[in-house]
Amino acid sequence: MGESPSLRSAGRSVFAIPEQRPKNPFRSEVHHPKRWICRRLTDSVLPVGNYLKGLDYSIVQQCMHCGLCLPTCPTYDATKRESASPRGRIALMRAIADDRLEVTRAFGEEMYFCLGCLACMTACPAGVDYAHLFEMARAEVERRRVLSSPKRNFVRWALIRWLFAKRARLRFFGRLLWLYQKLGLQTFVRRSGILRFAPKPLRELEPLTPTILDRFTPMGYRTPAAARDAPRTRRVGVLAGCVQDLVFADVNCDTAFVLEQNGCEVTIPKGQECCGSLHGHNGEWELAKQFARKNLDAFDVDALDAIVINAAGCGSHLRHYDRLLAGDPVYGERAKTWSRKVRDIQEYLVEIGFRPPRGRKREAKIRLAYHEACHLVHGQKITGPPRIILQALPAYEFLELPESSWCCGSAGVYNITQPEMSAELLRRKVAHIASTGASVLATSNPGCLIQVAAGLRAHGIEVRVAHPVTLLAEAYRAEKNDSPNPPVI
Ligand code: SF4
Ligand code: SF4
Repeated sequence: MGESPSLRSAGRSVFAIPEQRPKNPFRSEVHHPKRWICRRLTDSVLPVGNYLKGLDYSIVQQCMHCGLCLPTCPTYDATKRESASPRGRIALMRAIADDRLEVTRAFGEEMYFCLGCLACMTACPAGVDYAHLFEMARAEVERRRVLSSPKRNFVRWALIRWLFAKRARLRFFGRLLWLYQKLGLQTFVRRSGILRFAPKPLRELEPLTPTILDRFTPMGYRTPAAARDAPRTRRVGVLAGCVQDLVFADVNCDTAFVLEQNGCEVTIPKGQECCGSLHGHNGEWELAKQFARKNLDAFDVDALDAIVINAAGCGSHLRHYDRLLAGDPVYGERAKTWSRKVRDIQEYLVEIGFRPPRGRKREAKIRLAYHEACHLVHGQKITGPPRIILQALPAYEFLELPESSWCCGSAGVYNITQPEMSAELLRRKVAHIASTGASVLATSNPGCLIQVAAGLRAHGIEVRVAHPVTLLAEAYRAEKNDSPNPPVI
């Protein structure tokens, strides 16, 4: 969050000494009203010791500076700055862990300029755990408050600590958005050009507003008793997510449906909250732990065969609950079981040998391309299962998308905090999608679904964007009437 180096700042050194402002000798920093507000907004979770120094040193020194990750890094590709590359960032983190460098504002900006796309991890021959380093570096940036400002602190508090802290608040916000759309206000705002007069952040955010569905995920859902009488070999808990629940509750329903079609008994436990990935990726390590504990309480981890998630960003984070809660006397052991059982829906379907949908082969198939969400391909190393599922759909012709694993610029809240770089990446993605001539684009992360759909809309390209599980659910539903044309929303 906050200001960070833009493409315009290419060439600026991260070693720059932060600007020194003359201080009023008569006014204590502690009692400065601005400082006081900053502290009130950031102190709700007390930070622990230096996160980078606290890391296992074998992680810090893993990088051998070979540079093989550089061509895969979107921020290095855009700026050609060493400090905006994985190798450069790791060197900075190590210098801080070694006490050779202070955590400065410039360091903080560099950490937030990183997309967290983890493409560097896929490329790295030494197996550097960049995901962990990156999270610890951002946590350290927040602990040292080097990017602190009343505006930034307020936005972080409102978004990360308040809105995403409770499902009920997020749903209330969702209902307001739903009303905004249902009452035709969104159409009016977009057509009237009134947005020209709105503040810049609002102007940039409004086009990204996704359509809010009439219903949220049915929390507490359990496969009906009648269906449970049929042979069900596996018990699966579904994590509904937060953005997924707010915007793509239909994908959660489709997930439950395809699992039931494949002999699973499904539960969507009440009491679950956001997985905590937003918090973990944005320097709120302690808050991320609190969410992990809540979810461990909500799920009967021992009784389930798998905990399934359909959002790539969440899945990548959920797998590391064991690391997050390592040493926790109450939750540590359960977190290990959790991490062993977490599966991405596509991975799980292929693992249990999902039933390919029946259907008449069409002569003129719908062209379908697949964009790989960063936290699925790089964060979880899942590349085959989505392709296996998509290629099993009788109505579609599967096409490989050029640069399918290159980030689309969504990256959590990156499209809000770094709109310039995000827009550049989105333009690149949209051009590739257009080059395939596809009518449908499949992708497995809510952020990507929203970002790519907005990009296509902005360029006037008519391509439907959908989760692979939705396409599979439609194919199963179409079996009943053996329709060669699955419903296209
Ligand atoms: S996570 Fe992505 S943006 Fe960040 S250093 Fe790695 S490749 Fe570059
Ligand atoms: S590929 Fe791995 S070892 Fe090589 S410079 Fe990048 S992070 Fe370091």
